[in-house]
Amino acid sequence: MSKLLEFINGQQDALLSDLENLVNLDTPTSSKALVDQAMQIVITRFQELLGGSVESIPQEKYGNQVKLCLGEGSGSGQILLIAHMDTVWPEGETAKRPFRQEGQRLYGPGIFDMKCGLLQGLYAMYAVVSQYKLTKKMVLFINTDEEVGSPSSRKWIEEEALKSDAVFVLEPALGPLGKLKTSRKGVGRFALEIEGVPAHSGINHSEGVNALQELAHQILYLQGLTDYSKGSTVNVGIASGGTAVNVVSGQARAELDLRIESMDEAERLSRHILNVSPVLANTKLHMRGGIIRPPMEQAMSRKLFASAQAIAGELGFSLEETATGGASDGNFTAALNIPTLDGLGAVGHGAHALDEYVELDSISLRCALLAHLIKEQMEELN
Ligand SMILES: [Zn+2]
Repeated sequence: MSKLLEFINGQQDALLSDLENLVNLDTPTSSKALVDQAMQIVITRFQELLGGSVESIPQEKYGNQVKLCLGEGSGSGQILLIAHMDTVWPEGETAKRPFRQEGQRLYGPGIFDMKCGLLQGLYAMYAVVSQYKLTKKMVLFINTDEEVGSPSSRKWIEEEALKSDAVFVLEPALGPLGKLKTSRKGVGRFALEIEGVPAHSGINHSEGVNALQELAHQILYLQGLTDYSKGSTVNVGIASGGTAVNVVSGQARAELDLRIESMDEAERLSRHILNVSPVLANTKLHMRGGIIRPPMEQAMSRKLFASAQAIAGELGFSLEETATGGASDGNFTAALNIPTLDGLGAVGHGAHALDEYVELDSISLRCALLAHLIKEQMEELN
């Protein structure tokens, strides 16, 4: 058995006890106080076990972003691990359904997305630093606003990524086989406002211009930009308008979500969306928005995935890769041309769902996979 796996197996009880503590703390993105409190537990464990340095990036709205660093001054390279502390669950959720084990499955809010992955990252670092001399700096960046698109942490993640030789993202793996995510779609968000001409629907119908009618045209046009063959989708997810049933509607609005697999498609479709033109005379369209997460293209994961597959083979399991339409912080780092491998967190099911769980027997193995990936990066010449 590998030294790293052996070490991690010896730490499994400690990891599980940390996991129970962490899952039993609510960490909704919207509550800075709760997120900061849970973060303190991880910081304390990091200092007790690994003894590295902690850098906190203060935030007003969200929990503080935290960088847990090891091996400063040990070389010029850096390996970056990314995890997030926030979950989609509101305050009070963990009181309703606390951490519990049923057979080989562990349940609790945010356990799969991604508190188990966060701790796997911490213990993988612990294993590496306990067994080997570091030749590069290792940073575990824990952000607190991932579930809302990382508005305050994005620039810090990008800053760390630019200093790194490789980025490992601790988002959950996919499916029962725990596939790694080697490409992710990019995301665009847009909002459309339409001005029509309001009028009394009984008296002056012909003098009005119905903004909802224009909206109907626009929805059909926008949805029609979808091209499954290119992996590009447009979804008008929210639409509203009008003030009263007997008024020709003077205004309407819609919000849309764009998903794309390449920057070329991101640019092409953003252009189409931003340049929408009215179908009805005397209506005005105001479209704003843009790409909020660039696509994570597969080329950025190719080499790291090949390493991961070889390591998995040595650890005795087979590893596959997959593409997903969901975005993560890996989208930001891959877009900067930094080799990025995502889905290195927990194996289980049910992100953002009530039946969210993690497979107990996968935890040590995935933790060891990550530790080996880190070690391999340490060995690679700068
Ligand atoms: Zn996540």
